[in-house]
Amino acid sequence: MAMDPKELATRCQSCGMPLHTGIPMDAVFLGTAADGTPVKEYCRFCYANGAFVEPQLTMKDMVAKSVSHMTRVLHLPEEKAKEMSAELIPQLRRWEKQALP
Ligand SMILES: [Zn+2]
Repeated sequence: MAMDPKELATRCQSCGMPLHTGIPMDAVFLGTAADGTPVKEYCRFCYANGAFVEPQLTMKDMVAKSVSHMTRVLHLPEEKAKEMSAELIPQLRRWEKQALP
């Protein structure tokens, strides 16, 4: 099941966090370019001051982080979290050239 491309474009293209939900809080979570201006594509936890916060991170790492966040913070069952992360993360721009082993 592929995600709606429009919905996908509203998310951080590294971790999949919703970034453009239409509320004023959105701007708080945007990443920043080297000159400090906000970037639309990434959240501040993934991208800050013009560079990825964790440049060595692989897509597999990101899936694991996402599952951990969904189970601990959002209290989703682990099976569901794994399913959602494996679906969402590979569709994001940062990981387009990587494939899950
Ligand atoms: Zn992010």
